[in-house]
Amino acid sequence: MANNFLNTSVNYLKGVGPERGDLLKKELAVNTLEDLLSLYPYRYIDRSRFYKVREIIAGEAYVQLKGYFSNICLHGKKRVTRMTAVFSDDTGSIELVWFRGFKWLKDAFKPGIEYIIFGKPAWYGNKINIAHPEVETADNGHAGQRPAMQPVYSSTEKLKNKGLGSKGINKLIKTLIEDPRLKIEENLPSAIRDVLKLMDRHSAVVNIHFPENNYLLQRARARMKFEELFFIQLNLLRLKKLRTEKAQSVVFEKVGSFFNRYYNEVLDFEHTNAQKRVIRQIRHDVKTGKQMNRLLQGDVGSGKTVVALMSMLLAIDNGYQACLMAPTEILSQQHYATITRYLEKIGVKVGLLKGSTKTSERDNILKDLKSGELQFLIGTHALIEDRVQFRNLGFVVIDEQHRFGVAQRAKLWYKNRVSPHVLVMTATPIPRTLAMTVYGDLDVSVIDELPPGRKTVKTVHQYDTNRLKVFGFMRQQIRKGRQIYVVYPLIEESEKLDLKDLKDGYESIVRAFPLPEYRVSIVHGKMKPADKNYEMERFIRRETQIMVSTTVIEVGVDIPNASVMVVENAERFGLSQLHQLRGRVGRGAEQSYCILMTGNKLTNEAKQRIRTMVETNDGFKIAETDLKLRGPGDIEGTKQSGILELKIADIIKDEKILKAARDFAVKITEEDPGLEKPENYPLRKRYEELYLTKRSWGRIS
Ligand code: ADP
Ligand code: MG
Repeated sequence: MANNFLNTSVNYLKGVGPERGDLLKKELAVNTLEDLLSLYPYRYIDRSRFYKVREIIAGEAYVQLKGYFSNICLHGKKRVTRMTAVFSDDTGSIELVWFRGFKWLKDAFKPGIEYIIFGKPAWYGNKINIAHPEVETADNGHAGQRPAMQPVYSSTEKLKNKGLGSKGINKLIKTLIEDPRLKIEENLPSAIRDVLKLMDRHSAVVNIHFPENNYLLQRARARMKFEELFFIQLNLLRLKKLRTEKAQSVVFEKVGSFFNRYYNEVLDFEHTNAQKRVIRQIRHDVKTGKQMNRLLQGDVGSGKTVVALMSMLLAIDNGYQACLMAPTEILSQQHYATITRYLEKIGVKVGLLKGSTKTSERDNILKDLKSGELQFLIGTHALIEDRVQFRNLGFVVIDEQHRFGVAQRAKLWYKNRVSPHVLVMTATPIPRTLAMTVYGDLDVSVIDELPPGRKTVKTVHQYDTNRLKVFGFMRQQIRKGRQIYVVYPLIEESEKLDLKDLKDGYESIVRAFPLPEYRVSIVHGKMKPADKNYEMERFIRRETQIMVSTTVIEVGVDIPNASVMVVENAERFGLSQLHQLRGRVGRGAEQSYCILMTGNKLTNEAKQRIRTMVETNDGFKIAETDLKLRGPGDIEGTKQSGILELKIADIIKDEKILKAARDFAVKITEEDPGLEKPENYPLRKRYEELYLTKRSWGRIS
């Protein structure tokens, strides 16, 4: 079991109590002493370094100066509101300012004595000053005891008001570390620590909070990063092992008439080699009796859905049901529309279940699902609700997986007595490091080839001032019979008032593209689903030539005749979103275009995003750049999945550590799957603390 002392409520620590304890829980999710101990500083201030006045730049991090006071002045009419002083070294002078504490301060600083001050320089009017610096005399005997690297913790206003700013938190941790009941036990085998020269856990924890010097701090951080990534990998690999060795799954022995009829009567193109390869892999997996858990990566339009569909038909051929889960209602709607169009011909019963499905309809679907009448269910995450029960679910497809986490995936496993096979599809290419962290338990297939005849989408950047030219180009394309998307980032309730409103945009387009020659559709998130569908259908039937919309068309929409994508306020979109949008065109035989419209003023980051889009069509390159620009925390959906709430490691910057963690986790899982060897006992203990308390992991031996 876990270390009992560390499991006690933070309230019992000296200096906390119920009120501060509640705040720590609410504001920082710190419940136990262990949570407090693993509240790591997010940065450190180097107090071993002295700046010169001349070097100071406003808005920079904290600086430490050595010098002399002069010109101490009190300001204010009736009462003192401000005190200033000049602080000088041999390179120049800077103003210091205080807004309280004058009574004591005004006589505190003596001329001719050398002081050390520490604070954050900022612009005040047209000059730089430092407000409320920390001050001490330079020959202060305590100076030597001050930590060289001063930790900074995240805190909140509420906590600060209760004395729990960064310093207050550090003080609590000090109390905890000095408590004789605290034992910080090693949890990594010495074999790993020796090879990687990792610091022991006790020293690492102490040095993270109270670093003696930068060297020890870096070693402490490296150790804790390794530990964090290692246990995640160990868990993912053990889940995988459990699945491949223990979990029995359904067996699809034969290829039957649904699969064959689809292939012969519906499919009107040849699969690409990549698609063939993936279908082979899947057909192999589903015969083994072990559960398949496969991630299918492929750029937008590479033909993943077709592969998924064939796999699902295989399930139906073998007497099982299949389901497809999509992240949004629109997308599930779209899948439903295409899939029913294909499957009607061969007599497969398909249902659609969304959050907004009416009760009576839902009841029917649930009934037919239970009886087995319905063979194929498509829907949003409404599918994972407990009341959704299948007669015998055999194959699960999850589209755009990055929005679902491991735990949500696991919920679908339990929908059958025997785990169904799972195929996870993602059109957002996932950089390797991220894939390793989030999907480390999956096998990976890649469709790295587009269907033949696809031309690369030509991408250009145009400033708003060139709008007339863009309109001219659009007219020319429409005359050639093409259709056009115009996408706005705005959602009506958005507080971003400077964004061009979708409706304004729609009106200006209607003016520039008048009837009877042109017809314009509009679709946005606030419309009723029926109206939305009506407009979509008109566009699909080519009754309108321009579709003005918000990002509701972002994923999954498949209209090959639409060959121009105009993105308004393109600077507002993230890279992966732009790439998704661009993927809506280039699906037919015609040359397609993506036009990124922006204002004249762009931030450097926006410029880089636009440039990346113009320069490359390679989804993997785009994903890498995206990860670099935004950091993993911002990648859509990763937050909800919870997997990436790393406390200290950073999957981009710590790629090397991640690889080492992965390698060791692989080695240990192979050599000692039950973690039974004595040298792995510490590992096993920590592993149980971390993962075996949660219900869904309970199947692990
Ligand atoms: P994804 O799900 O990867 O975005 P889809 O499966 O939706 O891609 O396929 C995109 C479009 O390409 C669809 O219209 C589909 O019918 C078509 N398609 C898929 N595979 C091929 C192929 N091998 N040859 C020609 N067209 C294909
Ligand atoms: Mg798709």
